[in-house]
Amino acid sequence: MASSDFSVPQQRKLVTELPGPRSRELHARRRAAVSRGAGTLADIYMDHGSGAILVDVDGNQIIDLGCGIGVTTIGHAHPEIAAAAAAQADKLTHTLFTVTPYENYVKVAEKLAEITPGDFEKRSILVNSGAEAVENAVKIARKYTGRRVIAALDHAFHGRTNLTMAMTYRPWPERAGMGPMPGDIFSVPISYPFRDPEGMTGEEAAERTIDYIVTHIGATELAALFVEPIQGDGGIIIPAPGYFKRLSEFCTENGIVFVADEIQAGIARTGAWYSIEHHGVVPDLVTSAKGIAGGFPLAAVTGRAEIMDSVQPGGVGGTFGGNPVSTAAALAVFDLVERENLIGEAQRVEKAFFDRIGDWPSRFPIVGEVRGKGAMIGVELVLPGTKKPNPEALKAVIQYAASQGVIVLDAGSWDSVLRFLPSVVISEELIDDAATVIEQKLTELSA
Ligand SMILES: *Cc1c(COP(=O)(O)O)cnc(C)c1O
Repeated sequence: MASSDFSVPQQRKLVTELPGPRSRELHARRRAAVSRGAGTLADIYMDHGSGAILVDVDGNQIIDLGCGIGVTTIGHAHPEIAAAAAAQADKLTHTLFTVTPYENYVKVAEKLAEITPGDFEKRSILVNSGAEAVENAVKIARKYTGRRVIAALDHAFHGRTNLTMAMTYRPWPERAGMGPMPGDIFSVPISYPFRDPEGMTGEEAAERTIDYIVTHIGATELAALFVEPIQGDGGIIIPAPGYFKRLSEFCTENGIVFVADEIQAGIARTGAWYSIEHHGVVPDLVTSAKGIAGGFPLAAVTGRAEIMDSVQPGGVGGTFGGNPVSTAAALAVFDLVERENLIGEAQRVEKAFFDRIGDWPSRFPIVGEVRGKGAMIGVELVLPGTKKPNPEALKAVIQYAASQGVIVLDAGSWDSVLRFLPSVVISEELIDDAATVIEQKLTELSA
């Protein structure tokens, strides 16, 4: 999209302090009406947006490096998504695909078969949320294998529903006090290059994972191994080269379904349709959600036809899954990614970030590592001279940035990784401006 096409200038501009008076007013009302459980990162209430800029209810223009956790990858309020959704809402908003079907659902499934890795026959189901996609992938893998045990990697995030919270690694805040946990779910070691023993290869890390599976679960008991090829909430962890290749071979040898949870990293965000492509691995099943429909609720499970079709009719589904409006928006997203080369744009964003902030570890003693792919970047904060997590610094940076009109996300099992998930249309100028704001706090904290 040419910069002249944005309905809001792509610039940070503050006209009040943040949060502003209107945001504070709304926040008081919110506290009286909305459950505390739905916590917020920054109490700045948004009104509209365009591209990489959000405009709050007080008229401040804010740089969004979060995209509502990686959802509006194509930019805020994209006019083509709005038009596609409005046109569909005019025609038909619901029939329930499993009562009387419609073409959009079929088209999205056809497109998913094309863009997901693997040159074999595929099938998809469409649901409402990432967690629902993961839950369905669990059911499908269990049905196909006749096994019950599910493994997820350390530091994984797979959702907050009753089943997926057990697959999510850390207890706080995602699951503490909300048990009992469903059974037959295991966490197994990951490859985490920044924290693994120096020089550990991906193959060695995979052997550690496999050994854990064999000794704690038993390879023939395991129905599926769930992995995020690039972990999002876990702290933008990218396992070492060779790690997933060895794990996927092990899964194939032992009849285990290998599932790539691409809910955060998929759909162009990392400079590929799916982030598992960077690892040269073809998964059996893939979950998609967040960025798939420009902000409309839609998620999918896509994978090998024989696995997906092992489920009896009626065994999966749900009232709103694959809604006509959400699928219309998804088709517009697929079209935009191709027509505007948003995969190339994500690669541009990666280069812009590394050019601008790649030297942070040498400049700031509290920065342990800068890592990422495409528009999915993590900055791990540590106590100076150590690799010990520095959650206090993370909190300070996020709060300061928000007060200056830059939204950045937290991540990591120890809450110590700064996470950037901007739109792939973000300009170099906005990246530079946001980096300058964050550097002010990093300088202060490093002193
Ligand atoms: C966000 C996320 C989920 C859960 O998706 P929801 O739509 O919030 O239910 C699952 N897996 C990954 C990797 C995610 O990032």
